[in-house]
Amino acid sequence: MRRIVIIGGGIMGSAIAYSLARAGIAADVTVVEPDPTYEFAATPRAVGGVRLQHAVPENVQMSLYGDTVYSAFDQHVTGGKVTFDPQFHRIGYLFLVEGAEARASLEANVRMQQALGVEVEVHDVAELRRRYPSFSFKGAEIGALSPDDGQIDPNAALMGYRRAAEGLGITFVKDRVVALEMQGNRVTLARLESGATLPVEIVINTANCWAADVCAMVGVTIPIAPMRRQQFHFLSQDAVETFPAMRYLNGFAVRQHSGVYLCGHTNFGEPPGFNWDLQHEVFEEQLWPQLAEQCQAFETIKPRGGWVGHYDMNHLDGNPVIDWIGAVPNMLLCAGFSGHGLQHAPAVGRAVKELILDGGFRSIDLSRFSWQRIVDGTPIQDDGPKA
Ligand SMILES: Cc1cc2nc3c(=O)[nH]c(=O)nc-3n(C[C@H](O)[C@H](O)[C@H](O)COP(=O)(O)OP(=O)(O)OC[C@H]3O[C@@H](n4cnc5c(N)ncnc54)[C@H](O)[C@@H]3O)c2cc1C
Repeated sequence: MRRIVIIGGGIMGSAIAYSLARAGIAADVTVVEPDPTYEFAATPRAVGGVRLQHAVPENVQMSLYGDTVYSAFDQHVTGGKVTFDPQFHRIGYLFLVEGAEARASLEANVRMQQALGVEVEVHDVAELRRRYPSFSFKGAEIGALSPDDGQIDPNAALMGYRRAAEGLGITFVKDRVVALEMQGNRVTLARLESGATLPVEIVINTANCWAADVCAMVGVTIPIAPMRRQQFHFLSQDAVETFPAMRYLNGFAVRQHSGVYLCGHTNFGEPPGFNWDLQHEVFEEQLWPQLAEQCQAFETIKPRGGWVGHYDMNHLDGNPVIDWIGAVPNMLLCAGFSGHGLQHAPAVGRAVKELILDGGFRSIDLSRFSWQRIVDGTPIQDDGPKA
């Protein structure tokens, strides 16, 4: 029997556990997750976008697989005593840019996405105003519109994966890993907060915003740290036509979401780390003026609060590590998803199963998301949106 310990039972740990269970080795796998309510975890705090527009081809491929799984979840994620419906629906995304460099980069990314099978087209602002007449598109020259991009309920996806993994025989232990013991360069034992221990042959670090703490247990430093993302809700008195999730070059983003509107904000200048404050003044002073500038109906909105979550931001290049850690060859790191892990979890679950059981990536070659690039300090070139 292999002893595989997964540290962190969010969507990533649960999707990996599910894939390993489907491969028939559920008895070998234990997931350690301290909080079955997931109060501070990223997954239930995600917005739920499954966007197909990315600048790195592997991210597009992983999103396409996420689309396949989430759009037919009841066929792909089975085995649980109860079933969950992540309510996949297609909302579309629209990325808006101005300036020669940004235009060229967006157009190149669109060509790459089209070659991978994504339905995406570049439109000028005149065409966009014709389609979405409530919007001014001030500050944009062109936009890339991908109408098939999806939206899901993140919590239902998480619980669907977790319950299916449990139904197939995976054990979830309500506890926290507090130390990892090593012999030579290999982890051999996980010590839990309760005092219990788990023998280890393979350990998978899916602790997301806490992944650096887990790496520190084996003396490894990673450039991944929590980054606050604030989400604000509002209502509009005046009707606005259905529109896709829109995102401007400066990071300003607005979408329709479960009967309200939603605006997200990341301040890349603030120090990394947990910060649970929701800054209503950011909405009042920075976001609302931009909303009103883009859409006249949004001058008279009713703010409805919001929530805070944290990205596991990879400060090297905004992309994940999905690889064995060289210095600790039986530890797999799956973290650094930097705001797009929910849509990639199905692909990561499958990829990690391939790394462990097949000896390497088989479905999508994710070797670019290597540990070695962290060691070498060589970032992946990614000119897509960072959050
Ligand atoms: C506001 C916001 C919006 C987002 N929107 C999107 C989106 O639209 N689309 C998208 O694809 N992604 C989005 N994301 C990103 C997405 O939520 C994450 O990439 C994804 O949920 C990460 O899943 P995870 O399982 O790695 O992390 P988590 O859900 O955070 O789970 C990690 C788990 O590890 C556990 N843990 C920590 N330390 C230990 C330990 N020592 N021992 C045991 N367990 C431990 C924690 O309790 C936690 O439950 C968003 C994120 C935020 C914050």
